[in-house]
Amino acid sequence: MSNEERTGRSVLVTGGNRGIGLAIARAFEANGDKVAITYRSGDVPEGLLGVKADVTDAASIDAAFTEAEAAHGPVEVLVANAGITRDTLLLRMSEDDFTDVVDTNLSGAFRVIKRASKGMIRLRKGRVVLISSVVGLYGSPGQINYAASKSGLVGIARSLTRELGSRGITANVVAPGFINTDMTAELPEETQKSYLASIPAGRFAEPEEVANVVRWVASDEAAYISGAVIPVDGGLGMGH
Ligand code: NDP
Repeated sequence: MSNEERTGRSVLVTGGNRGIGLAIARAFEANGDKVAITYRSGDVPEGLLGVKADVTDAASIDAAFTEAEAAHGPVEVLVANAGITRDTLLLRMSEDDFTDVVDTNLSGAFRVIKRASKGMIRLRKGRVVLISSVVGLYGSPGQINYAASKSGLVGIARSLTRELGSRGITANVVAPGFINTDMTAELPEETQKSYLASIPAGRFAEPEEVANVVRWVASDEAAYISGAVIPVDGGLGMGH
């Protein structure tokens, strides 16, 4: 197999209209791939094919895939990136706070993977990249819902690897630490300061630093990596 990165693949990134998802979409675009992003509202970033989808709704996912595949062919690279937080301490966490986060971050990933897998099995190749978080394995006070959803992605990637690994399909988890996006801008300054103090790299990261790793793990060079959890966290979660 050549070391040259293959281009022109059909790539779909959920939640690719902003933040980490947009940086991921741009990285694949720069690689010469055909990129579709899902978005819920607002504008589609220039140069990308936007397909409307809410990952909590299987019918809207199916419609989005149908549209993306009509334009770009069967999805060969799926990045399950869409995610939300509803942070609060356990005693204040409502059942809706818990289930909404799990429904988006974990069940949402299940839904898009299930839809994408049909085409990948037919193609006998595919790359599934799940955007988790350092919090999934490290834990975080006030994020029981989020941590549960993000650690669940590891189980998905590893089971998928065992189910479909022999068909040229890999499934990996990328676990970012603290990345500068809307999601982290919302955190109180005190929380940001305490994170900063415990990150060996001594800084937060930009979305592109996650995107480059996602692009690489979806490349031919990474064909023998599957079921892995790849941290992009400046050392914050070391040992987990
Ligand atoms: P943002 O809040 O900036 O963006 C979240 C994206 O997810 C948006 O595109 C949003 O769409 C989409 N989304 C949320 N819910 C749904 C839904 N039900 N259906 C479809 N799309 C949805 O987050 P980030 O870019 O920071 O985070 C991206 C991923 O990275 C998330 O999974 C997050 O958990 C993870 N992560 C982020 C870290 C960070 O430090 N920022 C650290 C570790 C992990 P819309 O614009 O319509 O709301």
